Amino acid sequence: MPMNTPHYLQTEPPAIGDGKAVEIAEGVLWLRMPVGGRLQAINVWALADGDGWTIVDTGWKTPETQAAWQEAMQHELRGLPVRRIIVTHMHPDHSGMAGWLAREQGAPLCMTRLEYLTLRAIVSYMPGEPPAEAVAFYRSAGWDDAAVQYYSKRFGTFGIAVSAVPDSFVALEDGQIIPIGERKWEIVVGKGHSPEHAMLYCRKSDLLISGDQVLPEISSNVSVQPLEPEADPLDDWLTSLAAIRERVADTTLVLPAHGQPFHGLHDRVEAVETGHAVALERLLALLDEPKRAIDVFGALFKRPISQSTLILATGESLAHLALLTGRGQARRERDASGVYWWRAR
Ligand SMILES: [Zn+2]
Repeated sequence: MPMNTPHYLQTEPPAIGDGKAVEIAEGVLWLRMPVGGRLQAINVWALADGDGWTIVDTGWKTPETQAAWQEAMQHELRGLPVRRIIVTHMHPDHSGMAGWLAREQGAPLCMTRLEYLTLRAIVSYMPGEPPAEAVAFYRSAGWDDAAVQYYSKRFGTFGIAVSAVPDSFVALEDGQIIPIGERKWEIVVGKGHSPEHAMLYCRKSDLLISGDQVLPEISSNVSVQPLEPEADPLDDWLTSLAAIRERVADTTLVLPAHGQPFHGLHDRVEAVETGHAVALERLLALLDEPKRAIDVFGALFKRPISQSTLILATGESLAHLALLTGRGQARRERDASGVYWWRAR
């Protein structure tokens, strides 16, 4: 629960998935692509770039999103070419249509190296048996047979939500300045939600395209994943939030990937930090008795966890447990059946 409500612009958002745009700042078009579920939409941005456009984020690979882009390119983008495609991070709602757009427009794909390479690695996950390492990972968190079966049946959605990734890309780096049209945008990298998430910051115009690194209402997913079971993403995440406050002015208009553009960046960052701090305290209190990852959901989530939210809940619980372990406040032991138990030190 955020302590300080973000201040939203009183702008009517564009409809979802019809290719219509709202000009949120001069030369910055806001479009929304459908993603279904609770999020409903991802915000994508078209930045005026000379006699063409730079696109930031692209939507899931679906026929609806493709049709929306085609409509947008004909009308809102006035038939002018896409000069480059920037993808903030590899998640499919951001990267899904990038390959298609790149091929369609003959435009380069721009991403940080870790996001591009991770995307290339996990786009190979297609429906079928999940990797043995992934099953072992979730078993070690305490999953039972039913949970593993549910997961296995639904495995492979990543590969089908992303169109073929281009075989080359242009690397973005933290601190790099990219001229787009009249503006100069600085790349600000954040970690924890994904490996090397790029935000675009224009100090002069007081604009931040924040991707999933700063969201106005929901807290970004910060999870330990089967790909890197010993990671400590929450430590990366909190370090990144502190850096954002240092580098990005509080007066900035934040253009997030989900939800409405807002002012109040520093308050929002602080609310997210406080949310994690409270969760960590509640979690630590639970660890008087040894607990598995699946035993601590009550410390982190208000809503009961179902099969469909179990992956996220497990990953987020593991992220908080890993942080406590890294800080020396908890320790982890593996039992004879390979399940991890945490207790307070
Ligand atoms: Zn994401």
